[in-house]
Amino acid sequence: MKQVEQRLKTIQQQIEEACEKAHRNLEDITLIAVTKSVSSKRAQSLVDLGIAELGENRLEGLLEKQENIQGTVNWHFIGNLQTRKVKDLIHTIDCLHSIDRMSLVKEVHKRATQPLDCFVQVNVSGEESKSGITPEEADVFFEELASYENLHVIGLMTMAPNTEDESIIRGVFRSLRELRDHIAAKQLPYAPCTKLSMGMSNDFMIAIEEGATHIRVGTALVGSESEEDE
Ligand SMILES: *Cc1c(COP(=O)(O)O)cnc(C)c1O
Repeated sequence: MKQVEQRLKTIQQQIEEACEKAHRNLEDITLIAVTKSVSSKRAQSLVDLGIAELGENRLEGLLEKQENIQGTVNWHFIGNLQTRKVKDLIHTIDCLHSIDRMSLVKEVHKRATQPLDCFVQVNVSGEESKSGITPEEADVFFEELASYENLHVIGLMTMAPNTEDESIIRGVFRSLRELRDHIAAKQLPYAPCTKLSMGMSNDFMIAIEEGATHIRVGTALVGSESEEDE
């Protein structure tokens, strides 16, 4: 068995385990393979194994993968997005995970020709290095979204802080879930906001326990390009 196949199996088992522990349904979890640090060839091997959701964090990397990969793929953009790149990106993706400011909302609305599924990124941990709106800004931000009907906000996204302390990570995920519940309760037609994009290689099991619907797994699934993969 190829390494990538072995890794996929392991992750699927871990997802099952976390679902069992949290009494959740496996079907409610979408596994996004983050392929930003590996070649199109490696990404293709995942698609061949049945992975249909791929995530990239740079426009150039995304376009390269799209050109080279055969098969049916839903494309997720998960990185910081410069406003000037929106026009080249918007028609090539199925889901944008990184709406983090009003200027980006306006540009996406202007360039999109139909509603695009989006996540609003929230900086829950408050770290300088992380982008996203603050939890305190969420109410006003979601009110303002009403004027931009080309964004269809399906949920909230966050990145956990870089720490070994599981309770801090869990707390961040839990806060995002509570904020999601708060926004979802408004039942905004343009922003149902029922989903949660959270959890990466090191913390996706915790994220699932705390309600993640979309996990973004890179290294643990795809490895790194320097490793042999036969
Ligand atoms: C790179 C990246 C991931 C995947 O990270 P891993 O630790 O390799 O699993 C997930 N989400 C975002 C936003 C990323 O940039």
